[in-house]
Amino acid sequence: MRARLARRAAASFVAWTAAALVALAAPSEASAWGLAAHRWVAARAAELVRERCPALGAAPRSALGDAAVEPDTVLKRREGRREGVRHFLNLDHYGPPPFRGLPRDRRAAEARFGRKTVEREGTLPWWGASVARRLRDELRRGDVGAARRTAGHLAHYAADATMPLHATENFDGQKTGQRGVHRRVEAELVDEDLDEYTRRAWQVAPRRPIAPGGAEGALFAALEQAYERVGPVLAADRNAARGTKVGSRLYYRRLHAGIVEVMAEQLGRAAVLTAALWEGACTVGR
Ligand SMILES: [Zn+2]
Repeated sequence: MRARLARRAAASFVAWTAAALVALAAPSEASAWGLAAHRWVAARAAELVRERCPALGAAPRSALGDAAVEPDTVLKRREGRREGVRHFLNLDHYGPPPFRGLPRDRRAAEARFGRKTVEREGTLPWWGASVARRLRDELRRGDVGAARRTAGHLAHYAADATMPLHATENFDGQKTGQRGVHRRVEAELVDEDLDEYTRRAWQVAPRRPIAPGGAEGALFAALEQAYERVGPVLAADRNAARGTKVGSRLYYRRLHAGIVEVMAEQLGRAAVLTAALWEGACTVGR
C-alpha cells in the first residue's frame, strides 16, 4: 500500500515537473505563434492532405501537434542559438522590399554578407528546405514514424515563415518604442480567441504541392508576404495603446480587433503552405 502511494506520488511528481518545465520553457522564448496555434496549423494541414498523403494525413493529430511545437519547446533548449536562428529571417536587415540585395542562395548570401551576419539575421528558408528534403527521404524509405515527426517540425518552420514579426529586425518593436509587442501578439493569439482565428483561417484556399526543391523559394515568398503585414501589426499595437496602459484589458480588446483579420489570414496561409510542402515531399518522384 505504502509502496503504491509512493509510486503514485513519484509519478505525479514526474508529471508535475514535466508540466512545470513546459510552462517555464514556453513563455521564456519568443516563439512566433503560440503553441496552440502551431498545433492547429499541423492539424489543419493533415486535414488538407488526408487523401493525397495518407502517411501524414492519417497521423494522430496529437503526434503531429507535439512534433509541431518541439522546435520551440525542445530544440531551442537543446541547441540554443543554433536552433533559434532557424525560426526567422530579418529581411529588412538587407535593405528595403523587395529585398533584392539578399541572394536567395545561401552560399551567395554568405559570400556577400559574411557567414556570421547570415546566421545572425536568421536562416529559416534554408533550414526549412533542408527539413522538407529530410521529410521526402523518410517518406521514400517508408519510415513513417520519423516522417511524422519531421512533418511536425516542418509545420513549425512554415508557420514561423508566415508570422510577420519573424521577418523583421524590429521583431519585438524595439526600434519603434513598442518593446514587448511580440509577446503581446502571441498572448493575444494563444488565449481562448484561437477559435476565432482558426474559424477565419479556414477560408484561405489550398495551394498546389511544393516539391522540396521549391521549398526554399516558397519559404522566402512566405516571409516576403508576411513582411507586408509588419506595418499593420505594429500600427494595431500603437492604436490599442492610445489612452490606456499597454497590457490593459482595453488594450488587448483593441489589439484583438486590430489584428484578428490579418493574423487569421496568416494562420490560414501557414496551414496551406504546410500542406503544400508535405504533399510535395510525399508525392515527388512517385
Ligand atoms: Zn518558432
